[in-house]
Amino acid sequence: MSDYLKTGYLNTSDLEFPDESVVKQHFVAVTECVQEIPCNPCVESCPVDAIKMEGINGVPHVDFKKCIGCGNCVAVCPGLAMFLVNIKEGKGRVSLPYEMLPLPNKGDTVNLLGRKGKIVGAGTVISIRQIEKDTTSSIITVEFDDPSLIKVVRNVGVIRNE
Ligand code: SF4
Ligand code: SF4
Repeated sequence: MSDYLKTGYLNTSDLEFPDESVVKQHFVAVTECVQEIPCNPCVESCPVDAIKMEGINGVPHVDFKKCIGCGNCVAVCPGLAMFLVNIKEGKGRVSLPYEMLPLPNKGDTVNLLGRKGKIVGAGTVISIRQIEKDTTSSIITVEFDDPSLIKVVRNVGVIRNE
């Protein structure tokens, strides 16, 4: 495990990822929740019992073969620590929690941001799902040309034309 408490970000090597064969079938949840805190809405929200943790202070582990990519865990996670990843027709796709303004629009080009907040490329917003009525909390799905970035992209930056 990297020294994320000092650096402020996780590395890819800290995380569990599904095999590419699974990711090519449909969206699959990946978790970036590594701290032992009393929290489990992700477990409770899963309709197929695909998230396991050892006790309320455990860290969640996703059974990638069970996950159906519904996004419930992304919507309920207060730590913004759940994501969905998928590769379709050679392109990468990530669904991520987004709580900032302005919200991008479907079809917008956005900057793709890695865990350090650095721009790692550009992508297109292909869907926006509002999580709660009258709030800005949403799940944004972005698509991009380099499928290897599904392990890297964890936020987006709206490009302002002003
Ligand atoms: S995306 Fe849906 S099925 Fe997959 S782990 Fe999350 S809640 Fe469960
Ligand atoms: S809901 Fe989010 S913060 Fe809470 S245990 Fe699950 S992944 Fe971690």
